[in-house]
Amino acid sequence: MKRIIIVGAGASGVYLSILLKKNINDICVTVLEQNQTSLKKLLATGNGRCNLSNKNISIQSYFSDRLDIVEPIIHDFSMPLQMNEIGLYTLYHNHLLYPKSEQASSVKDVFMNEAKRYGVQFLYEQQVYQIEKKDTYHIYTNQDIFQADFVILAMGSEAGKLSGIYPQRYDILKKLQLKVLPSRPSLVQMNTKPALKELKGVRIKGTFRLLKGKECVHQEKGELLFTDYGVSGIAVMQLSAYMEPDTQYKLSIDFFDELDEKQLREYIELRQRKGYNHFYDGLLNHKLSVYFEKKNVHDVQKMIMLLKRFELEITGLRSYETAQVMKGGLSLEEVNDLLEIKKYPHMYAMGEILNVDGLCGGYNLHFALSSAYRVFQAIERELYVKNK
Ligand SMILES: Cc1cc2nc3c(=O)[nH]c(=O)nc-3n(C[C@H](O)[C@H](O)[C@H](O)COP(=O)(O)OP(=O)(O)OC[C@H]3O[C@@H](n4cnc5c(N)ncnc54)[C@H](O)[C@@H]3O)c2cc1C
Repeated sequence: MKRIIIVGAGASGVYLSILLKKNINDICVTVLEQNQTSLKKLLATGNGRCNLSNKNISIQSYFSDRLDIVEPIIHDFSMPLQMNEIGLYTLYHNHLLYPKSEQASSVKDVFMNEAKRYGVQFLYEQQVYQIEKKDTYHIYTNQDIFQADFVILAMGSEAGKLSGIYPQRYDILKKLQLKVLPSRPSLVQMNTKPALKELKGVRIKGTFRLLKGKECVHQEKGELLFTDYGVSGIAVMQLSAYMEPDTQYKLSIDFFDELDEKQLREYIELRQRKGYNHFYDGLLNHKLSVYFEKKNVHDVQKMIMLLKRFELEITGLRSYETAQVMKGGLSLEEVNDLLEIKKYPHMYAMGEILNVDGLCGGYNLHFALSSAYRVFQAIERELYVKNK
């Protein structure tokens, strides 16, 4: 009987364990997890609703050092179909895929019910700190030593503090002489200068541009929230994914993206002719109108700049604690297109431990589960397949 050890009971690890035990005879699948329970991060996804995937899966929504390896993996996987196979009914809300229940907890229930039904063994509070290749793989934890014919690295990342914050996950890779790219937060809030504390809690819709010098690196139409440290909201999180380390950026806010500059000029001039006491009242959220009024700007061109090209210096990103994903991790130069580590036959990596991150909108869970599916296909190819 072949022994397979999966390191990490996150979304990718648990899903792979189900696929393996459901489809392949005579294997023993053990999942080693450092936490006291499985799927802690999954429960927090999509604000507890679990945004599983996106109708528009496209490689443009991902970042990696080898997108050519990622592309077939994300496209060869249908989330609604595969979730239905294990008993999870899903529905699109516009382009975002959620469980019908809109509860991440029901995804956890389905995953764990299936894993238990097929006899996956879960061992908790087992923190892996080293893996060695001998005749078989030896996996060392804080409690024990395990041996396996196949070992799967599914240790995720430190984002959100729900999958452990210890550097062990990267140390394991480094001890195996594998290339690890430094981890840094993505899909995360920004610190700004100034931090507009007086606007704290104000939520606006508009178009937001990430500027490097004068160049617009990326723009997002959506929602932004002012906070006491800077800015948050989906549009801000998305822009954070495009930021390179050690680079100066500015955020440019277009509060009136429904009007071009000429239309806004005409509207401002019309409004000025009407002679309102408080020019910005009725145009914007009250806190914003008070903020702009204090600036005492009356020149039309300068008012257009304020309303359509309002700039804040980005002084940095918030930390991994509030990030949804981390960039960096195991370089894809170390794996083949089946996600097997080239230097270590029968050792695979999947999910967020790999240097792959996606935008908000279900792209990260899509990669976690589609990469698990790819690893399952690779192992199935090597082992006996059940006659159904
Ligand atoms: C707040 C929040 C909301 C999110 N919302 C969404 C969303 O709506 N849609 C979406 O697509 N993505 C979302 N994401 C991202 C998504 O959850 C992750 O990309 C995905 O869960 C990664 O799955 P994974 O299996 O690779 O790793 P994880 O889910 O991080 O699991 C890794 C597991 O490995 C364990 N582990 C780590 N190191 C060791 C070790 N040394 N020994 C033993 N065990 C170890 C961890 O404890 C953990 O259980 C969100 C993330 C956060 C933080």
